[in-house]
Amino acid sequence: MPTPKATPDGNPDEALRARVRHAAEIINQADGLIIAAGAGMGVDSGLPDFRGPEGFWRAYPALGRAGLGFMDVANPRTFGRTPELAWGFYGHRLALYRATQPHAGFGILQRWAKDMNAGATVFTSNVDGQFQKAGFDPERVYECHGAIHHLQCLSTCTEAIWPADDFVPDVDEARGVLRNAPPTCPHCGGLARPNILMFGDPLWLPARSEAQAIGDRDRGGYGCAFGAPLQPADVDPRGREAGADQCG
Ligand SMILES: [Zn+2]
Repeated sequence: MPTPKATPDGNPDEALRARVRHAAEIINQADGLIIAAGAGMGVDSGLPDFRGPEGFWRAYPALGRAGLGFMDVANPRTFGRTPELAWGFYGHRLALYRATQPHAGFGILQRWAKDMNAGATVFTSNVDGQFQKAGFDPERVYECHGAIHHLQCLSTCTEAIWPADDFVPDVDEARGVLRNAPPTCPHCGGLARPNILMFGDPLWLPARSEAQAIGDRDRGGYGCAFGAPLQPADVDPRGREAGADQCG
C-alpha cells in the first residue's frame, strides 16, 4: 500500500490526515501489534524525556547546578564514587515511575490489539515499567535497556537480579541526593544499582532483558510500530557508542 505524501493542493493538515487514515488502514489489517516505544511515550504521562542537556537539567536542576549531565550521572562509576548522588537521581526516578499513571494512549493500544489474533508485543528502551503498569502482559514486554524496578550488585559478585520493591528512596530534591540508606547486594553486602544499561557500562547484567527477548521470539503479530524512540545521540553524540539508559 503506497504511503500518501501530500494532497494535490499541498495542504499539510490534509496530508497529515491522509497519513493517519493510511496508518489506520494498516492497523485494521494487522494480525497483531509490535509497539516500539522510546522516551517520547512517557511524555504525556508527565515524565521527562531528558532531551538535550537543558531538558535533563530542567528535570534535575540540582544536577545542573553541579554541572553534571545525564551521561555523568547515568554511569556506574558515579555509583562507586558518589552513591548518594547516583541514587539521588535513580531513587527520584524510581519513586516517580512508581507514582505515575500511564496515560490514555496505553489503553488505546491495548484496545486496538485486543481483537488481533497475535495481540500486542512491546519493544522498549524505556526503563520505567509503564507498559506493565498499564496492563500489558509482562511476558510480552522486552525492555532492551533493563528496568529501574530491578536491582543488581554494583560489583557483580553475583549475576542475580532482584526486584527493587523493598527499597523506598528518600531523596533530597533540592540537593539531588539520597537521604536514606541505598539498597545493598544480598550476597556481598556491597552497593546495589538499578539493572539498567547505563553509559560506559560493561557490568550491566543483561540476563533479564535477554530472557524477555527470547520469550517473545516465537510470537507472531506484526502490524505497526509506535512511540518516539529517543536515541542516545539525542542526549549526547558520544552516547551512540556507549548505549545507555536514555530515557524516562
Ligand atoms: Zn554483591
